[in-house]
Amino acid sequence: MSSRRRIGLVAHDERKKDLLEWVRFNRVTLSRHALWATGTTGRILSEACDLEIRLLKSGPLGGDQQLGAMIAGGELDILIFFWDPMTAHPHDVDVKALLRMAVLYNVAIACNRATADYLISSDLFHRDYRPAAGDAQAAMRVTG
Ligand code: PGA
Repeated sequence: MSSRRRIGLVAHDERKKDLLEWVRFNRVTLSRHALWATGTTGRILSEACDLEIRLLKSGPLGGDQQLGAMIAGGELDILIFFWDPMTAHPHDVDVKALLRMAVLYNVAIACNRATADYLISSDLFHRDYRPAAGDAQAAMRVTG
């Protein structure tokens, strides 16, 4: 992992305000990294924070799956995903799949502000840190 991180940003509707506050607070740091976000989240963040964010499709329309595919392709280092634990969503299966990909490929995930705060203030975030291969890469090595 180079010190320029590739970061995915997603928040469910009830958590968008939280993510917006977090991104505002960390705007200068985040501006040094490559950012992607699901459609609505990304539009809100880029308009409010003047950040360059590449927009994917809206989460329920495939954006979560696009992020999952980026992870499977080794194109994302960090996922900041403020999902809502109090509401059922039509795309729950996509949410679960995205979280599964992040764990499988050993991508750092923050699902709430406390974890996101720890992650962005970690010494490893600011250094050239290469995480261990995830289970998926390990499985590929075993099976060829
Ligand atoms: P959104 O998608 O950014 O398009 O609202 C987020 C989600 O619900 O996964």
